[in-house]
Amino acid sequence: MDLIIRNACVYDGSGAEPFTTDLGIGGGQIEAIGDLTDAEAAATIDADGLAAAPGFIDMHSHSDWVLPQPHHGEVLAPLLEQGITTLVGGNCGASPAPIVPGNEGRVKAVGRMLHDQALDYAWTDMATFLDLLERNGVALNLAQLVGHGTIRTGVMGGASERATDEEVAAMADQVRGALDGGAIGFSTGLGYAPGVFADTEELIGVTAPLAERGGIYTSHARSYVALARRDDPDQTPSNIRALDETAAIHRAHGVKVQHSHLIFVGDESWSSTDRVLEHLERLAEQDADIACDAFPYVGGNTTLAVFMPAWALTQLDKAVSDPELRGKAKRSLERNQANFGMCWDDTQIMWVPDRALARYEGLTIAEVATARGTDPTDTYLDLLRELGPRARIINWNYSGRDDEEASLRKVLKHPRTCFETDTILTGQGFDNPASYGTFPRILGRYVRELGLLSLSEAIHRMTGMSAQRMNIADRGFIREGLAADLVLFDPDTIGDNTTRKAPDRSPSGIETVVLNGQVVVRDGRFDSTRRDGKVLRLQKGLVRA
Ligand SMILES: [Zn+2]
Repeated sequence: MDLIIRNACVYDGSGAEPFTTDLGIGGGQIEAIGDLTDAEAAATIDADGLAAAPGFIDMHSHSDWVLPQPHHGEVLAPLLEQGITTLVGGNCGASPAPIVPGNEGRVKAVGRMLHDQALDYAWTDMATFLDLLERNGVALNLAQLVGHGTIRTGVMGGASERATDEEVAAMADQVRGALDGGAIGFSTGLGYAPGVFADTEELIGVTAPLAERGGIYTSHARSYVALARRDDPDQTPSNIRALDETAAIHRAHGVKVQHSHLIFVGDESWSSTDRVLEHLERLAEQDADIACDAFPYVGGNTTLAVFMPAWALTQLDKAVSDPELRGKAKRSLERNQANFGMCWDDTQIMWVPDRALARYEGLTIAEVATARGTDPTDTYLDLLRELGPRARIINWNYSGRDDEEASLRKVLKHPRTCFETDTILTGQGFDNPASYGTFPRILGRYVRELGLLSLSEAIHRMTGMSAQRMNIADRGFIREGLAADLVLFDPDTIGDNTTRKAPDRSPSGIETVVLNGQVVVRDGRFDSTRRDGKVLRLQKGLVRA
């Protein structure tokens, strides 16, 4: 054996109660679980009663865009230092592959937002992307989704029209190719262009290959606010309709579906939390294989253009400069702010593409408006022009605000919720605290301090359950024969140390992280030169290295 971890309090990822034992590791796998007093190994760690859990799985990441960079180990160190060993990339409809002539411009533009570095884009399809990563080495495991936005742009350019039957078939072909190239499923970003232009019928057509290959469907849903259509006699809130749309993909193809980053945007939506969670349960009872994921903060990152009405997305320049269109946009923004219960204090600028304007990073729209003496909504429209639509923001009104987080706690407590960071970590700009503290915050604040869920259940929902959702077969549990991805931590001290104004603080309590049998985090510090991650691929319906 290469490594023996003695006296660990093992949470095996199943949700079962822990037991104290030794773990023997060899060839990157867990070889033995039990009393290994007489066994020998090249290295030994005395866990001395620390908790041992499977490596955490980040269910919703955008760091797949960072992995092609040679120095990605430094940029992504905060992920490993909070115990993450596997990330699911390609979310919200945005994957770096496949690159085809039609989408090259978009992939590079999205890439600029999500990794903020010059890349050589030395790949074309999903297979060559994953092969390249494997060849160059990755700092943690990757399970890659293929994104609807990437595919749709490749086939239709930036068109806002409905897809024709031929276009749907062409997109489905691209999805099939990506799944055969190792993608583990398909993602949508229905709140962003071009996802916002696709109807449910298009999505069902494009995802047909999932039924053949068995990959998962993940969706940044159509709506995270509770707004009824004026002409709807039932007055069904839009976030319930969005959940039904996610379930429709399960109904059509029988595949697992994941309602990504379940949030409730703005005060007016928070009160719909119970109704949405009950609807989720009802769908699950009706055999929809559906679950959601969430981050443990009331803020989440998105782009500056996210507030603009759909009609403005294809003509942003005009929408902020043409007096008539700008007036229309402003009225729409003001109406939405009031209807959703949002304010410009909530919107904090995290990163701007033009480094000469970096002084805006960390400020809220309201703070900029005060400094300029301008109307806040006009300031937003001005900033959209000055900083560009791809400037990143954090909105601090997701399922709560400041210490008011009743909605957030209901989501985190819910048994169908897995956990995720959903951050954009580039090494530049102002960070999202979730990049540093997500998993420690759940285990510290919500498990130990607030007793919202038990430690074994929380670990299950960040390991074994997450692996099962993503069809990952070779990790997620501490079992003989599975990959040796492990986190050793102190349940009494584990915790997140970030704040909104100091987002880049390392967590407490994570001592050691083992990735495919190699110790990569010691005393809480990741050795950023290590490349012990593996690329996981969908093969015969199961995802494995
Ligand atoms: Zn998203």
